[in-house]
Parts: sequence; structure tokens; C-alpha cells
Amino acid sequence: LRTPIRRALLSVSDKTGLTELAAALHAAGTELVSTGGTAAAIRAAGLPVRDVSELTGFPEMMDGRVKTLHPMVHGGLLALRDDAGHVAAMDEHGIAPIDLLVVNLYPFEATVAKGASPEDCIENIDIGGPAMIRAAAKNHGHVAVVTDPEDYAPLLEALAAGGTTAAFRTRLAATAYARTGAYDAAVSTWMAAHAGDATPRRRAFAGTLAQSLRYGENPHQSAAFYLDGSARRGVATATQLQGKELSYNNINDTDAAFECVSEFDPAEGPACVIVKHANPCGVAQGSSPAEAWARALACDSTSAFGGIVALNVPLDAETAAEIARIFTEVVIAPEASDEAREIFAAKKNLRLLTTGGLPDPAKAGLTFRQVAGGFLVQDRDSGRLDPASLKVVTRRAPTPSEMADLMFAWRVAKHVKSNAIIYAKDGATVGVGAGQMSRVDSTRIAARKAEDMAKAMGLPEIPTRGSVVASDAFFPFADGLLTAAEAGATAVIQPGGSMRDNEVIAAADEAGLAMVFTGMRHFRH
Ligand code: 5GP
Repeated sequence: LRTPIRRALLSVSDKTGLTELAAALHAAGTELVSTGGTAAAIRAAGLPVRDVSELTGFPEMMDGRVKTLHPMVHGGLLALRDDAGHVAAMDEHGIAPIDLLVVNLYPFEATVAKGASPEDCIENIDIGGPAMIRAAAKNHGHVAVVTDPEDYAPLLEALAAGGTTAAFRTRLAATAYARTGAYDAAVSTWMAAHAGDATPRRRAFAGTLAQSLRYGENPHQSAAFYLDGSARRGVATATQLQGKELSYNNINDTDAAFECVSEFDPAEGPACVIVKHANPCGVAQGSSPAEAWARALACDSTSAFGGIVALNVPLDAETAAEIARIFTEVVIAPEASDEAREIFAAKKNLRLLTTGGLPDPAKAGLTFRQVAGGFLVQDRDSGRLDPASLKVVTRRAPTPSEMADLMFAWRVAKHVKSNAIIYAKDGATVGVGAGQMSRVDSTRIAARKAEDMAKAMGLPEIPTRGSVVASDAFFPFADGLLTAAEAGATAVIQPGGSMRDNEVIAAADEAGLAMVFTGMRHFRH
């Protein structure tokens, strides 16, 4: 059973595909009604269209704030065609039914993203559009509502077949409410920030579909990628220059890599992060991006196979050539030189993303985690250490070079799943222990991996000798700390705050370690 489209109301800010759609509707005998700009575009294409102001008997007024908010419009969208009372009301007031609504909203999200003034953002909050969309979607038993230009083609197919089916209208209605929900969530997010309130309260959460994914974490899971409207620099806003389509896991891992590398200000020199399964398996600074890459790779070249590489500086030819030598899934960087692009062009599957810059690691934002029946919301971990706030708790204070490595390791620790243990030396990780249920296991695993690397590469010395170690949370006992000392670490950075801090400090003193407390924890579960 198909419902014919006798009358359509079109009101679109984004006029892509509008005239083609209007022409097809007109050819099928549909009467067209439109708001100012939309009507002008349709008329310019030589098609007949009625102005909505003629329908309402009111001009569009107040800078467009009031155009379609009128019973002649909303009655035509909301009336039940099979309800005698509704039909009588339509007759009495001369309201004609509207069978199709095509609306896309004032570009609020894009206006915010381009950094417009508060007045501009507020003026771009669409009122009449969402009201019509919600009305038409509620009445999907009779009315088709199109809010996404991607639905123009299936709409035209339905039109050619004689009208819309109930199933199609229901699907359109679901899309329509997703759009108004995401729109109001974006307004709420902006409004909270505008009010100086960045906390998760008074917020609605919704996203705008960016991309359907081939599958989720596993092939039997379907998946999609949504934008949260924050326009944060990273995988969500990057340009993909080449390579296969990003997968769910690629996106997750690329985010982990780029967020981690963004901790390192390019003014301090190039840095490189290699990620596997959302954990860094190598992080390093270097005098050039190629050197940073080589040093990051040296941390755990076994795990780096099939990894995700992030740089905090533009990808140059030398680095691209080196990266291309091993199997890599994704490379993300602020920019990529023409020569680097050419080198990668030979690697058809390798995905190359550029972001145009780095996100501000200290910028406020929210993160989400789903639990059965709900989700958790919290501030992004934008905690950063002020070196002046560090407390030396051992008899020996760190040397300047130990201190530099402690600060480096601490920044990495924030991006490693708990329990996180990071050994570092000369601005490079030499052992990463991630995601263990026991801290002493993380400490052991990281040290053992460093031993394995030394063997594999024929190094004269195990790289953890003379390193420093960072722990994302306090050592509850001295055992983890002593394991690190045995592996050769000479200095430790950790939050402190354990009941047994005194025992741990005494053990550190006995082992000749220098230890600092941060008073800040970086759990990442
Ligand atoms: P046009 O370009 O046709 O002049 O305007 C189209 C835009 O106006 C669409 O994005 C539509 O959602 C919006 N719109 C339609 N009616 C109203 C209304 O009554 N108030 C406001 N604020 N926007 C409206």
C-alpha cells in the first residue's frame, strides 16, 4: 500500500540536490510549497512553487525566526487523514494535507565549528525546522519526512512506484528524530560551554552519523562512527589521503596514538607513537621524525608489526620511507609532504591521515563508556603535571636527566591501560607494561620485553639499565618497585598515597632510587 505525494513542503538550508528533487516531484504532479530561500532556488530552476507565506497568510518575519510556525503548516503535517474529527478540522480551517516534508536545518554545528560569535551561533539554532520535522515524523503513518539528502534517491524511487510505503516512512521518521536529537544535543553542548559549564551535568548526548563501518570490533558486529560535534582534531576530523577504509579497530587505535603523541609539543621536537590494540608499544622523541620513529620502533619492534603510527610533526619523505619498510595499518600526522605521499602511494592499503594540527591536550572535553543499561560520562583526563608540584620523597633527588625522563614517562603513562608501567630512557620508552590486573606483573612484563628486545637486536646491555620508571597509580607494596630496580631503573615517578608509602619509600632508599610523587593518578581502564 503506497501513499501518494500530492503536496510537499520543502525548506532546506543545504540546497544540494534540491532542484533535481523538486523537478522530479513536479514531474510526478506534486504541488510544491517552500520557504523564502528554498522557493527562490526552485523558481530559479523554472519550476512552479507556492510560498509558505501565501499558505499562512503571514510574511516570514523576525529575521526568519518565524516562517512556518503556523496551523496551516502544522495542521497539514499533523492531521490524521483517517480521523473524522481531524478531517473536519482541516475542512473548517481550509488546511490542506502535506504528504512530504523535506527539511535540513540551519547549520548550527558547522557555525560552531568555524568559531562564529555567540550571536551567530544562536541565530543558527533552527526552531521551525525541528518543529516541522518532529510533527511530520510523529505523523509518519501518513507523512514522509526527509532530513538527509542521502534519502532523496530512495524517495524518488518511491515516488516513481506511486508513493511511499509505511515501512519507508517509519525508517525516515527514525532518521528524522535522530537528527533533531543530535541537533539539540549539539545546542546543549554549546550552550553549556557558553554558560561556562563544562561538566557533564545538564547535557544531552547524541552524535551525527559520520560513516557506517563494515563491521565492529569483530566481523559479526555491525558498527558506525559518529561525530560528537566538538570538532576536536584527530581521527574524527582527519582527511584520509589514501588507503583502505578505516575499520572500527583502526579508528579506536588511531585515536589512542594521536591523543598520546599530542602530549608532545612540536616545539620540544618531533615525537612518534606506535600503538597496538589501543596501547602504545613505543613512544619516543628524536631530533627528526625519522629518528623519533626509529627510537619508538626499537622499544618493541615485534609488537609494532601491523601497528598505528602517529607523529606530532609533518610526515617527511625520510620517515615515510622508513615506516613503509614494515607492515603498518595507519599513519596519522598533522601534515604529509608531497614526497612522503608519493612514497606511500606505492602501498595501496596503508591508510594515511592528516589532521592539519594537534588537539590541545589540556582542553576540556568529555569521554564516554558504555555499561549495560547506561553509560558513564567524565571529563577527559586533561591532567598535566606542573614540575614544581612534584615531591621528592627519597633521600636522593632525581638528576636533571632522570627528571626529564620521569616527566616523559609520566606523559606516556596517561595513555597506557592500567596497570601501566613505563620504563624510559633519553626521551624514549624502553619497556611498556599495560593492562595487567597486577602492578607487579606490568612491571615484570615491561622489563622482560626489554630483555627480549636486547636479545633480538644483539644489544650489549638491556635497555632498562639506567632507565626511569613511571607507574600510573601508586605501588601498593614495595615488590613492584623492587622489580623495577632489579631491571635497572634508577628513578621512579608515581602518584603516592598508598597506606604503605613509608615501606615503599624505605625500599626505594635502600635500593638507591630517586622517587617523586605526583599527587595525581592516571588510571585508564
Ligand atoms: P530558506 O532558505 O528556505 O529561506 O530557509 C530554509 C531553512 O529555514 C531551513 O533550514 C528550515 O529548517 C528553516 N525554517 C523553516 N521554518 C522556520 C521557522 O519558522 N523558524 C526558523 N527559525 N527556521 C525555519
